Amino acid sequence: MASLGGPDVGFVPTMGAFHEGHLTLMRNARQRHESVCVSLFVNPLQFGRGEDLEMYPRNEERDFELATAAGVDTMFAPSAAELYTRESTLVRVPDITELWEGEVRPGHFDGVATVVAKLFNIVRPRIAYFGWKDIQQCLVIRRMVSDLNMQIGLDFHDTVRESDGLALSSRNAYLTPNDRSAAPLLHRALSRLSSILRGSQLTQELIDLNLTQTKADLRSNGFDVDYLELVNLDDMKKTRTAGPAALIVAARLGTTRLIDNERLDLP
Ligand code: AMP
Repeated sequence: MASLGGPDVGFVPTMGAFHEGHLTLMRNARQRHESVCVSLFVNPLQFGRGEDLEMYPRNEERDFELATAAGVDTMFAPSAAELYTRESTLVRVPDITELWEGEVRPGHFDGVATVVAKLFNIVRPRIAYFGWKDIQQCLVIRRMVSDLNMQIGLDFHDTVRESDGLALSSRNAYLTPNDRSAAPLLHRALSRLSSILRGSQLTQELIDLNLTQTKADLRSNGFDVDYLELVNLDDMKKTRTAGPAALIVAARLGTTRLIDNERLDLP
């Protein structure tokens, strides 16, 4: 496949169903590059059995219009058959991919790293843009780029939210009206926890207690919590010591799985 590259390409990899989160990354890239490329590919390799590959929201025509309005020059929307002509070589980032999302979704990050590596080779960007919303994905890509000496800059953008705090996500379209009204509690819980943790140096026991209480609160509000943890911003291992950290959460409301996070400096 020929390269789509030019001397100064800003690249935004996506799975489509664009919202303000995606469009913010595109506009950001637009301000900084001669040329902006967006890929739109619902990557089968990163979906597990029983996940939402078939029903993942797709609306290419609308996406093309929105991307054009955001100043995107090139849309790359290959089919799975075009991108994977045979069983693919896999890129597997160690350790970090086994935790959290990787534990709940085995193989997910092999699919992510592999497709992003392929897209980087096709598009040959100077800088690629990702959202902190998918914090573990950011750290996996950062590790892959470093380990494989890829000559590509990375830019991670803050999570774009609804006015009630819910992180924008293509999967929010699955929420029933009842679940939609409960969903902002996830971000509220993270914000509350974050201000407690930032406020003063807490003992490990007190941090554990706050995490346990928040999980219980979320459960009593109908969330089925996969994980809620305080992790470091390097290898995403659980941390209780001072430094750059993030609260990470994944929880299901009905059939919709939501993830969110809040970065903080732990005193
Ligand atoms: P996706 O189409 O869900 O794979 O997302 C494509 C890119 O947009 C990824 O880098 C995401 O992290 C990023 N993204 C998704 N939702 C948001 C959001 N609410 N705010 C900022 N970036 C986002």
